[in-house]
Amino acid sequence: MIKVRLWGVRGGVPVPGPDTVRLGGNTPCVEVRTGDNQIIILDAGTGIRPLGQALMEEFGDNRIVVTLLMSHTHWDHIQGFPFFNVHLRRKNRIVIIGEKREGRSLETVIADQFLTPYLPFEYRGLDAGLLIKEIRDRETLVIGEHTLVTARSGFHPGGVFMYRIEHHGRSIVYATDVGHPIGSLDERVLEMARDCDVLIHDSQFSDREKLLHPDWGHSTWKEAAQVGKEANAHVTVLFHYGAWAKDDHLYNVVEKEAKAVNADTVLGYEGLEFTVD
Ligand SMILES: [Zn+2]
Ligand SMILES: [Zn+2]
Repeated sequence: MIKVRLWGVRGGVPVPGPDTVRLGGNTPCVEVRTGDNQIIILDAGTGIRPLGQALMEEFGDNRIVVTLLMSHTHWDHIQGFPFFNVHLRRKNRIVIIGEKREGRSLETVIADQFLTPYLPFEYRGLDAGLLIKEIRDRETLVIGEHTLVTARSGFHPGGVFMYRIEHHGRSIVYATDVGHPIGSLDERVLEMARDCDVLIHDSQFSDREKLLHPDWGHSTWKEAAQVGKEANAHVTVLFHYGAWAKDDHLYNVVEKEAKAVNADTVLGYEGLEFTVD
């Protein structure tokens, strides 16, 4: 069994307000729970703050152990981490997994957002046990005893990892901040998404926006739907909307255009949950 819940679906910057309240205004964060009670978090955008609150309420005084898989360290994927209050308790443990960034260690990149004058508290002062593990393209890890995580590089400035999480034959794939060549789909994304139960895929661009910014390493919502279709994903979730995308536009245009490509496509929103077993 794998359970997935979305906590933040916007790209670039948090966008609270009346135009974004239905899908939610937080930046990327996805919670994954497995049948053997592993808690895996994909990215630490601002959605990780309410996730942290929910975990602290659920666990009370009990120990929380989470594995945080970082796609990459662009601001919108790390900016919630200082406010993920699970790190305030000494007994908790956070394992952070990702890639070295532009020659700097993953730990340095994450720790540097705590430097003064950006924040009033220090990375070194966080109470929880933090373990940082750098991995490489195509590396596979076992989390707990029965959960397999595979990382794969995609096309994005500075690099990005996609993740496939598998547990007893069920699988979810997280492919945000990935771009495809104009006119074709990146084989690496198709391979990662092959026959998965839930595909969460970057959907930042319209066709026109993609042509204006082919080097930004983002996808159109039609490409997201097409990847799901060609890879035979059971359901494809649109994710990482442009900060300018209002809810009305997402419901009236984006969802319809994507469903015309692949009927098994849905808009991702905060609180959307899937249980596959
Ligand atoms: Zn992003
Ligand atoms: Zn990015």
